[in-house]
Amino acid sequence: MAKRPKMNEGKVIVVAGGAGFVGSHLCSALLDRGNRVICLDSYLTGSPVNLSALQCNPYFTMIEQDVCDEIQIDGPIDQIYNLACPASPRDYQADPIHTMLTSVTGTSNLLRAAERHGAIFLQASTSEIYGDPEEHPQQEDYWGHVNCTGPRACYDEGKRAAEALCFDSLRAGTVDARVARIFNTYGPHMRPNDGRIVSNFVVQALSNEPLTVYGSGEQTRSFCYVTDLVEGLIRLMNCGANPRGPVNLGNPGEFTVIELAELVLSKIRTTSSIVYAPLPQDDPSRRRPDISRAKALLDWEPKVSLAEGLSPTIRWFQTTLAKRRPARRR
Ligand code: NAD
Ligand code: UDP
Repeated sequence: MAKRPKMNEGKVIVVAGGAGFVGSHLCSALLDRGNRVICLDSYLTGSPVNLSALQCNPYFTMIEQDVCDEIQIDGPIDQIYNLACPASPRDYQADPIHTMLTSVTGTSNLLRAAERHGAIFLQASTSEIYGDPEEHPQQEDYWGHVNCTGPRACYDEGKRAAEALCFDSLRAGTVDARVARIFNTYGPHMRPNDGRIVSNFVVQALSNEPLTVYGSGEQTRSFCYVTDLVEGLIRLMNCGANPRGPVNLGNPGEFTVIELAELVLSKIRTTSSIVYAPLPQDDPSRRRPDISRAKALLDWEPKVSLAEGLSPTIRWFQTTLAKRRPARRR
C-alpha cells in the first residue's frame, strides 16, 4: 500500500496548468512538501492571482507558455503533472479546436519532455471520459458513452486521446505515465465567471440573483473538495508501482443539481430563488465515482464533505467579489 509522501522530498516538479484552480493548490502543496516547482501555464483560464502567495518563494518558478508549443526546460526534472486544459464547459467550448490541441499536442509535448528528463508523468484526465454513462457508479474499466461530434467532444475526446498517448508511452516503456480520472472538484481559486455549477450558484446567491438550474435539476454530480483531490494526485504520482491503468479520484457523495442549489441557499443569507433554464446539449445525466481502486492502491479517500467544503469556497467568492465591486462614494 502506498505511504503518504515524505516531507522535504527535494524533487524538481513541473506543473503544467499550475496557475489554474486545481494547479495552484497542487503547486502550494508540492512546495509545502519541500519540492522545487516549475509552473508552466499560458494563463488562458488561470491567473497570477492564484499564485500570488507563491511568487516570492525561491523554490517556485513560473514559465508563461502554451503547451502546444515545443517545451524546453533546462536542468533535471523528476516529475511532470499535466493539468493544462480549460475544465469548465464554457471555457473549453470557447475555442474548441485549441482545447483539443491542448490535450493532444500539449500532452504529447509534455510526454516527450518527460521522456527526455526521465520524469514520472501524471495526466489529469476526467470523468468526462465516461460521457453520459450507462453504468453507475463509474468504474475505471467502463469504456464510456461519449458523443464524438457534439459540443463537449473537444474536451472529452481530447482527454481520451491524451489517455491513449499516456498508455502507449507506458507500453512502449518510454515514460512512467499515470492517469487520474478527476470528478467534479470545487474550492477556493475557482473563477466567479467560469460557468461551473458551484461558481454559478455561490456567486448568484451572494449577489441575490436567482440560481440557474439547467433542465429538471435531477441530473447528479459528485463534488470533491480541492485539497482532497490534490492529496490523491500526489499519492498517485508517488505510489511505488505504476497502476498501469486509470485511477478515479472524486468524492462518491452524489447530489442532484437541485440538492446542491438548496444546500447553497441554506449556507448563504440571500433573497435568491431558483429559476429553470434549458439543459445544455449532451449534459451527462449522472456521475459518481467508484473509488475502490484509489482506496486499494493509494490508501486514499476524500475527507471533506460537500457541506464542509462549501464554507471556505463561499468565503473565497465573497472576498473575490468584494475586490471587484467599485468602492462606495462618500
Ligand atoms: P482551470 O481552467 O482552472 O486550469 C487549467 C489551467 O491550464 C489554467 O491555468 C490555464 O491557463 C492552463 N491552460 C489551459 N490551456 C493551456 C495551454 N494550451 N497551455 C498552457 N496552459 C494552459 O481548470 P481546473 O479546474 O484547475 O482543471 C485542471 C485540470 O484538471 C484540467 O486538465 C481539467 O481537465 C482537469 N479536471 C478538472 C476537473 C474539475 O472539476 N476542476 C474535473 C475533471 C478534470
Ligand atoms: N448546471 C446548472 N446550472 C448552472 C451551471 C451548471 O444546473 O448554472 C448543471 C449542468 O447542466 C450540469 C451540472 O450542473 O448538469 C454540472 O455542470 P458543470 O458545468 O459544473 O460541470 P460538468 O457538466 O462538466 O460536470
